[in-house]
Amino acid sequence: MDATTTLSTRAWIDRFIAAVERESSELTELDRKAGDGDYGTNLRSALRRTAANLDAEPSESPRAVFTAVSDAFLNTGGTSGPLFGMWFREFAKALGADVTTSALAEAATNAAAVVQRLGKAEVGHKTMVDAMVPAAQALADAADRGVDVHTALAEAARAARAGAASTEQLLARRGRASYVGENARGVVDPGALTVAMFFRAATDEAPA
Ligand code: ADP
Ligand code: MG
Repeated sequence: MDATTTLSTRAWIDRFIAAVERESSELTELDRKAGDGDYGTNLRSALRRTAANLDAEPSESPRAVFTAVSDAFLNTGGTSGPLFGMWFREFAKALGADVTTSALAEAATNAAAVVQRLGKAEVGHKTMVDAMVPAAQALADAADRGVDVHTALAEAARAARAGAASTEQLLARRGRASYVGENARGVVDPGALTVAMFFRAATDEAPA
């Protein structure tokens, strides 16, 4: 049996939005060094749309919350907007009313796969995929061990953080960062960092 617990996905997204607001200029700075410098702006407008969608959404079910997030990203520009939109959509599809470790593992696994299919990025190409894939793997491992959702999400956050950190030394093979060659080395990929921030925001909540 999978361990279940009351995880408020609404509170999770609210903390994610707050974390991005705190760090959006750093995220933009990373994209300025290894891209075109619009990343933080794209992300903030997606999250402002998310907040508006959530305000208009009476249900706090995980499906409703992640649909609101997904729709906001799908309506945002940049390469990252649609990719994150499709990523979050898999969370909306896989999560039931009670968020379980195995549903999170299924969501994250399908979500990473859809982003890889659309963006054609492998791990090591210096993109958001470098954090998405290890986070999904950590959640799948946690599900196999029957670990509770809070522990599982903490493990996913650590894996995503390590994946994001690993992008610093890489040359980019996808996205605008791939146009700048050696100049991207030494710059953490902002998309991967955002994925780490997303999982980190889940674990800030004390277990119920
Ligand atoms: P743009 O290049 O259109 O300005 P953004 O600035 O919105 O895009 O997003 C940049 C982020 O998108 C990068 O940090 C990277 O994580 C991600 N990214 C770019 N190309 C790809 C791809 N092919 N697959 C997955 N992620 C990608
Ligand atoms: Mg950009």
